[in-house]
Amino acid sequence: IKTPSQLLGIPLDHEQKEAVTTIDGPLLVLAGAGSGKTRVLTTRALYMMQEKEIDPKSIMLVTFTAKAAREMKDRLAQNSKNSTVGLNQLVIGTFHSIFYKMLIHHNSEKWNGKNLLKWDWQKENYLKQSCRELSIDEKDFPFDQAIQQIGYWKNTMKTPGEIKPADDWEETALTLFKEYEEQKRKHRQFDFDDMLVQCYEMLKENSTLLEAYQKRFHYFLIDEFQDINPVQYNLMKLLSRHTNNLCGVGDDDQTIYSFRGSEPSFILNFKEEFPDAKIISLSSNYRSDHHIVSTANEVISKNKKRLSKKMIAQYQSETSPICFFPYDEEEEATLIINDMKEKIELGANPDEFAVLYRTHTSGRAVFERFVTSSLPFTIEKGQNSFYERKMVRGVLAYLRLSVNPDDTDAITDFIRALFLKQSTLNDVKALSILHDCSLLDALLHVKGIPAFQISKINKIIPRISSLKTEKPAIALGIIEKELGFTDYLKKQGNEGNSMDRGSDDLNDLKVVAKKFLNVDEFLQHTNHMISTQHALKGHSHDTGVQLMTVHRAKGLEYKYVYIIGAVDGSLPHDFSLESARKGNYEFLEEERRLLYVAMTRAKEHLYISCPSNRRGRKATTSRFLRPLL
Ligand code: ATP
Ligand code: MG
Repeated sequence: IKTPSQLLGIPLDHEQKEAVTTIDGPLLVLAGAGSGKTRVLTTRALYMMQEKEIDPKSIMLVTFTAKAAREMKDRLAQNSKNSTVGLNQLVIGTFHSIFYKMLIHHNSEKWNGKNLLKWDWQKENYLKQSCRELSIDEKDFPFDQAIQQIGYWKNTMKTPGEIKPADDWEETALTLFKEYEEQKRKHRQFDFDDMLVQCYEMLKENSTLLEAYQKRFHYFLIDEFQDINPVQYNLMKLLSRHTNNLCGVGDDDQTIYSFRGSEPSFILNFKEEFPDAKIISLSSNYRSDHHIVSTANEVISKNKKRLSKKMIAQYQSETSPICFFPYDEEEEATLIINDMKEKIELGANPDEFAVLYRTHTSGRAVFERFVTSSLPFTIEKGQNSFYERKMVRGVLAYLRLSVNPDDTDAITDFIRALFLKQSTLNDVKALSILHDCSLLDALLHVKGIPAFQISKINKIIPRISSLKTEKPAIALGIIEKELGFTDYLKKQGNEGNSMDRGSDDLNDLKVVAKKFLNVDEFLQHTNHMISTQHALKGHSHDTGVQLMTVHRAKGLEYKYVYIIGAVDGSLPHDFSLESARKGNYEFLEEERRLLYVAMTRAKEHLYISCPSNRRGRKATTSRFLRPLL
């Protein structure tokens, strides 16, 4: 790689150098993946401290993920050689961590971490409570979608009064939004989105406080500027108002968080917002092999809504990106692991590998194969595993009760899958003591269950015990078809980030079940997977092969990258294809950006897997890749 010059011992080309040394006034660095934007940002911080003797306390450096923040700290520490002076005084972190600290600093009682609704299920409980208050029938209500919609409204800073609902569903979601806010206030709870909104309100309302922060911070450096959302943008603008020293680096082709309100318009209209802004583009790619760069560019060039950018790869080799076509996700996982093992035996370091997927659930097979392989790996923490998804837990509850009708966890999931009131659980426990029968049988005696549900329960429960003697895949078929689980699937719809269909989960579970001869072994396997996932959550680290969603891989780079599940319906995701059929191509373009982000993580070797069957159904190679094959 030819790099003409250096600054503080760090190689930089002159476009990069210009961006590093332009300190005052608004600055936007707009450039493609791997062009050194993050390097520019970190070097700029070093340059300010070491060459310009700017007080590190007055610099705020913002990234999007905790992992990116860690990486940035590492890069800074490495590059600052022996003079780490000032590094720990630099304010560096994600929007949430920085502004949460600010809130706590001013009112630690109100913003006590104990009151934080961290998980979607916690929010869901509040939404359920809100439904009860408003007499909305919660049975048919897609809470996951409501959670996402409310998050979107908050991040785009829409107050309930300003929202104009587009349809009946949004109308209900809006009513619920108001009540949800009320419930949270009443119980002194808050969620992640509240942190930023409230911090903004706090600063806007308290001019003394705002002035104090404006006095303290003079320089703002933001990575991944393309994914900034209105509340984050407004916060930064407010804080930097007096100096206008706002520096963003980003790539409009990598906007992948629009469902959380991120808006590339802030990049596209930067010059209008800040007429004296300097805009610098970087045109060399220092990360990836030129074959990878040109393939990725070819993919993204089909998007209509984008700024076109020049990108010259600095790095040449003989290897090309490779597409492969396994039979299904099981074979996909086997091929990938064998390939990695071979490379590692020949001396490659496991830390240099990453497996990327569209949604958490699509990583299921690979995860399972890693658990039983001897390869070290890390999976991003904080997410529910496949087996903890409501739908999967629901269907597994039938099998677990078949083996043990006194399994308390299983009966809880079962009650939920039948849409019975949660208070039923207490009645069941009491009745099982009273009648000296199992929890499952006690459910037959519970009072107050509506008639139509009683007949259903009377049909299902006696059949459950015989499930354990069936082959696992057949047992799943019986639960689905004969025992009415399809009802549940229909009502449940999507789950999590409303991305994956319950019926796909069930198909996937059947794929796993086929590998086992009896229910016992199958359940042992699922338990093993759940406990491994839990153990991993405890000590997540950054070593070993990295398994993660494309969203999480943003900004990172690996020598070997494997993209799995590159088929229509997964990448691009189904919902984007559906809206494209209705004439809306925005989501499809975002899916293409996701593939672009995934491809551009690779430095030397890129493998893309397009299985011909996925989640129990036939699959077609991603439409984004077909023109290249
Ligand atoms: P992304 O859009 O994916 O976030 P980026 O534009 O932030 O990418 P960086 O991660 O900063 O790109 O840089 C990509 C790789 O190229 C890194 O390994 C970085 O160290 C290297 N690099 C950047 N600039 C140079 C340079 N001038 N000379 C040599 N290597 C460089
Ligand atoms: Mg970057």
